[in-house]
Amino acid sequence: MDVFAQRMRRAGRIVCPFCEENVPAPRQVMTVFTPDGCLAGRCSCGAVYAVDEIGRLGGQALLDAQAVLCDGDLGRAMTLESGKDVDVLSRPFPVQTIRDGGRRLGRTAASARSWFVRRRLETRAGEASSAAEEDG
Ligand SMILES: [Zn+2]
Repeated sequence: MDVFAQRMRRAGRIVCPFCEENVPAPRQVMTVFTPDGCLAGRCSCGAVYAVDEIGRLGGQALLDAQAVLCDGDLGRAMTLESGKDVDVLSRPFPVQTIRDGGRRLGRTAASARSWFVRRRLETRAGEASSAAEEDG
């Protein structure tokens, strides 16, 4: 898994769909729903993401991302509703860039996805009231 992370770092092309900034390479995170852990990372805007390397477990990767967002609190992660508590965006993950320097690959690599999750702010545009976030 570390090898994968190192390759990611070299590729360095993961962009947060919420803020369009580059995000750090994912690291192995164990406190998620997947028993073996998953690759996940955080963006400076507050979004987190989990990587679905094989493109088969989208729902699981999303749950894992929510677990990361809740700092490993799985019970709480289960209660998050996309579109209500959190915003969810899925993006193709550039594994193919890593594997062979940009050559186009077949479906296997192309199906890897990243799942970004960000907490919704309760306040709407208008007043800049201090957000009700809990700092861990
Ligand atoms: Zn971001």
